[in-house]
Amino acid sequence: MTDVVRVISMLSKRYPQKGDMDLGNPKDTLIGVLLSARTRDSQVLKIYPDFQKAFPTFASLAASTPREIEKFISTIGLYRSKARAIHQLSQMVMEEYGGEVPGRMEDLIRLPGVGRKTANCVLSYVFGQDTICVDTHVFRIAHRLGWSKGKTPERVEADLERLTPVKWRSAINRTFVRFGREICQPQIPKCETCPVRDWCEYGKKRNIGISKKAKKHS
Ligand code: SF4
Repeated sequence: MTDVVRVISMLSKRYPQKGDMDLGNPKDTLIGVLLSARTRDSQVLKIYPDFQKAFPTFASLAASTPREIEKFISTIGLYRSKARAIHQLSQMVMEEYGGEVPGRMEDLIRLPGVGRKTANCVLSYVFGQDTICVDTHVFRIAHRLGWSKGKTPERVEADLERLTPVKWRSAINRTFVRFGREICQPQIPKCETCPVRDWCEYGKKRNIGISKKAKKHS
C-alpha cells in the first residue's frame, strides 16, 4: 500500500459521509456545487430548500429570469453572476441536452458557470466516475501533504491523478473537505491531533515527530 492510498483510506474510514453538495439528483447537485463556489456549503444548504421548491426543474429555471433567481440566492457569494449562470445553464440544458445533466466532462464545461472543479464533482457524485474535484480544501491539503506543488487546480488534479489509483480518486474530495474543516484547517492546521501527520510533509517540518505506526510502515 502506498502512503497516498494509506492516507486516503484512513480518511475514508474517518469520514464515510457523502459530500454535502451531493444533493441526490443531477440537477440539484450541479446547481448546489455551482452555488458553493467561494461560499460555505452550510450557506448553500440553508437556502436550497426554498430555491428547490421555487425551481424544481431546469425547465422552471429556464423559464424564469436571473432577477427572480437572485431573490432566492442573495445570501450566497457572487449571487448575481451565479444567478445569470444558472439561468443560461438551464436554457442550454433544455435546448441542447434534452433537460438532462450531461455526463461527460467536455459537455459539462460548456455550461455557463461550470469549470473543471464543478464538472469533476458532478461526474463523481452523480455519475459515479473516478474523478478528482480540486476545491480549496483539496488544493491546500495536497500541498501540505507534499503530493503536489502545482500552482493551479488543474496541475494539482494532474498530480493527484498520477499518484492515486483509480478506485481511490473520488474519495479525495469527499474526505478532504471534512478533514479540512475539522483538522487541516486553512490558517492553523491541528497537526498535533492529525491522524495522518506521519505521512505529511508539512507535519514533519513542524517537527511534531514520527509515530511508531509510521516507523512500522516505513
Ligand atoms: S499534519 Fe498538519 S498539515 Fe499535515 S495533513 Fe495533518 S493537519 Fe494537515
